[in-house]
Amino acid sequence: ATLYVQALREPLQRLIRNLDQLQVGIASTARLLGVAEVQQDREAGDALPEGNRLVGADLRFAYRPGRDVLHGVDLELQPGERLAIVGPSGSGKSTLGRLLAGINGPRTGSVTVGGVELLALPLPVLRTEVALVTQEHHVFAGSLRDNVVLAREDAPDEVVLEALRTVDALDWVQRLPRGLDTRLGSGQLEPTPAQAQQIALARLVVADPHTLVLDEATSLIDPTTARHLEGSMAALLQDRSVVAIAHRLHTAHDADRIAVVIDGRIAELGSHDELVARDGEYARLWRAWTS
Ligand code: ADP
Ligand code: MG
Repeated sequence: ATLYVQALREPLQRLIRNLDQLQVGIASTARLLGVAEVQQDREAGDALPEGNRLVGADLRFAYRPGRDVLHGVDLELQPGERLAIVGPSGSGKSTLGRLLAGINGPRTGSVTVGGVELLALPLPVLRTEVALVTQEHHVFAGSLRDNVVLAREDAPDEVVLEALRTVDALDWVQRLPRGLDTRLGSGQLEPTPAQAQQIALARLVVADPHTLVLDEATSLIDPTTARHLEGSMAALLQDRSVVAIAHRLHTAHDADRIAVVIDGRIAELGSHDELVARDGEYARLWRAWTS
């Protein structure tokens, strides 16, 4: 499942260097490819008028005209908060995640970070605010270093190695005869799914966004690999705001708050204990999960 996008790398980096001319549509495409992580601009990020609070207000979204899949969602994420989103398949969880990460714009309503419309931020600033993490691997043909520093091309090797250490990859990286110069996708290293995911996560550590939106949705990786990555994920999530679209309820259980999305609406919102006491949809899901 490892994706090599060699042909796209150069053009994308050129685009990234000309961000001011980028239109949102192009930027969205680049973000979807997961390779548009760009020069860090923490200062600009910190200058937002109201901190880094992420707020979705009256979010509506349609893939086809007249067919809204989100029907006016309101959701706030406090700095450092862990919010889980649960609900039936097709209820709009992934769509909501993409809106909160600024990959799609809502049909109506807004997503703001620190009081500023997310999609009005230059992409480099947006990238330090929020990033979407999925289980699709975006590893491209190039050196291991190139793959990690995409967000910050001038990152020194110590930063790269520290990021790889954070995601638990240093063991296998240190065994590579050519280290960070090892070329991916050319016979020198064909990363396993777990390694590819670790490389993608290390790239995020270097990008260092305030908020991560985590979509566990597509289970491209097997359970063994998933278990192997749990430590890496935990390290990445440390000290950030997190929106976790959870398919395993224990992820939700550990969150500060849980939003239950049903048919494009937030049906329930509260802590695990509150929602169990409420004895509604979450309580039903929880009983089914634990029985
Ligand atoms: P969830 O993540 O909760 O399973 P999604 O947000 O993926 O739900 O999907 C919400 C609804 O939007 C579903 O009815 C789904 O079929 C539809 N949908 C999702 N992605 C697309 C797409 N790219 N084009 C058209 N419809 C889509
Ligand atoms: Mg989904």
